Amino acid sequence: HQARQQGHGHALYTGGRDRECARRLALIGDLHRAIDAGQMRLYCQPKARLANGELCGVEALVRWEHPQRGTLWPNEFISLAEHSGLISPLTDWVMQAAFRQSYVWRQEGLSVPVAVNLSARDLRDPKLIERVRNHFATWGADAGDIQFELTESALMQDPQGSLECLHRLKDLGSALFIDDFGTGYSSLAYLQKLPVDAIKIDKSFVQDMLSNNDSNVIVRSTIDLAHDLDLEVVAEGVEDRAGWEHLSAQGCDVAQGYVISEPIRAEAFAAWRSERARKTPTH
Ligand code: C2E
Ligand code: MG
Ligand code: MG
Ligand code: MG
Repeated sequence: HQARQQGHGHALYTGGRDRECARRLALIGDLHRAIDAGQMRLYCQPKARLANGELCGVEALVRWEHPQRGTLWPNEFISLAEHSGLISPLTDWVMQAAFRQSYVWRQEGLSVPVAVNLSARDLRDPKLIERVRNHFATWGADAGDIQFELTESALMQDPQGSLECLHRLKDLGSALFIDDFGTGYSSLAYLQKLPVDAIKIDKSFVQDMLSNNDSNVIVRSTIDLAHDLDLEVVAEGVEDRAGWEHLSAQGCDVAQGYVISEPIRAEAFAAWRSERARKTPTH
């Protein structure tokens, strides 16, 4: 109330914050039921090789179809889930959906690795490896069918613990990606120790690289750094042809972004893929 008496601007700000708090609390309540109520949806976004346009996998991205609020994006509920003890069931839902989709594609003769995002909390869960193993067993998946993405900042919350967890995940054979690279302040010494296969350059740098020289330098040095460490490099948030051409000229390996496709419902992917093959027969 003190802030409210200090002037109009503060009153608006405080009111906005109260409303935001109330909204978040209500969402936490709803999230408890949402998973069992079948309100989560699996979307996937394709990745393609810059050298030849070939599809090389999809990233699994979750959406929440809220009965009153419409479709919610992860930025509205992932951190809520992390802070209210609901991230494990949510990650399990996404893994189950991703493994299931991968199974369906294998039945249809499609070979499309699916990358699942893990959160910082998942990395700290002593049962994570057992959970992942169970999904592999249930769906008869091979290590090459499923990949995992871990953000650089999640790893840096507990560098030593993350390193151990990554080794145990890597023992299962799946490819591991460092996500949102460039935003998490890891050191070269630390990176060198991580048993990962690829680095994903954060989309904030990719989206800026043609207009901002600092971002361009970061993109270019990340590509060189990754290659020096024998890692592949993926650019996320590639929105147009100009970005694609620029990254290709810099020697980046893989692109993900609207220039290829927005995230689409997992069930719609096979049709999207055939349509793309029809339009660009060489890919
Ligand atoms: P991310 O893993 O870095 O995923 C890429 C995000 O960039 C996605 O946002 C995607 O829709 C968006 N994107 C892709 N291409 C473009 C583009 O060309 N331009 C722009 N402007 N954006 C693009 P989304 O789906 O909203 O997900 C946001 C973040 O939420 C993800 O970032 C990921 O960290 C997290 N997330 C999503 N699904 C899950 C999940 O199942 N589990 C966990 N733990 N986190 C998830
Ligand atoms: Mg990701
Ligand atoms: Mg990413
Ligand atoms: Mg990102």
